[in-house]
Amino acid sequence: MKLRKELMVKPGRPVVLDKLDPGNTFGWEKSDAGTKRLEQNTARLAELQWRLFAESRHAVLIILQGMDASGKDGTVRHVMTGLNPASCRVQSFKVPTDEEVRHDYLWRIHKVIPSHGEIGVFNRSHYEDVLVARVRQLVPKEIWKRRYNQINDFEQMLTENGVTILKFFLHIDKAEQCDRLRARLSDSTKNWKFERSDLDVRRQWDLYQRAYEDALRRCSTKWAPWFVVPANKKWFRNLAVSEILRATLEDLNPQFPKPLFDVTKIRVT
Ligand code: AMP
Ligand code: MG
Repeated sequence: MKLRKELMVKPGRPVVLDKLDPGNTFGWEKSDAGTKRLEQNTARLAELQWRLFAESRHAVLIILQGMDASGKDGTVRHVMTGLNPASCRVQSFKVPTDEEVRHDYLWRIHKVIPSHGEIGVFNRSHYEDVLVARVRQLVPKEIWKRRYNQINDFEQMLTENGVTILKFFLHIDKAEQCDRLRARLSDSTKNWKFERSDLDVRRQWDLYQRAYEDALRRCSTKWAPWFVVPANKKWFRNLAVSEILRATLEDLNPQFPKPLFDVTKIRVT
């Protein structure tokens, strides 16, 4: 599929976020193709999820990362809307608890990796440990530098054990974030989303962008690729994520299991 190829970060290739237009829609128009295609994808995803669950051989893990107000929650709401909650789990990662910080940083992650048949969505993830941990100097450089390889090894191990991983960086620019944070102050239905600390993070915008660039370059792998999703336009962000998820599930092509008995020989009375 086209968007999957266009948005994927080629393993080892440097990423310069300033050069990637967060308003790009790759020729899609909101009015027709964009919205209609999203509806079709939503219906198809529901069907593929049902098969994935029935087959129970693969798990799918979707990782969402991005600056504050980049649309991580909105992506879950709009793209996952048709999925059956019975086999879809969303996990948000916040500041680690006292118990979590006393373990290695992958401990809390590994515990909630989706099981075979499930689709798991991570709103933030172990990547925070090479993003916020780096920018805010929560651990020394020697520690966070080692994590890129550790993450690649961890994700490879998961992949070899039946977990298909998709990682999306929702790319907005500073002006778009400004508008969205202002809306969180001016719209009473959005006040609850605003946190004062968002402004501190915003002041460190450039440092976060550099940290993201390194994570994208060092951890986009054959087995767990990163996608940079232009996310200034919410409808395109939703379309892109649903296209890539759909294409990935189509490739997995999950099948309903064949019965282990001769169904013609069994009578239900
Ligand atoms: P939100 O996603 O807006 O609910 O915010 C969650 C907050 O938790 C963000 O400020 C993250 O940077 C922070 N966070 C998540 N994971 C970590 C981590 N491993 N270390 C430190 N802060 C984290
Ligand atoms: Mg927030």
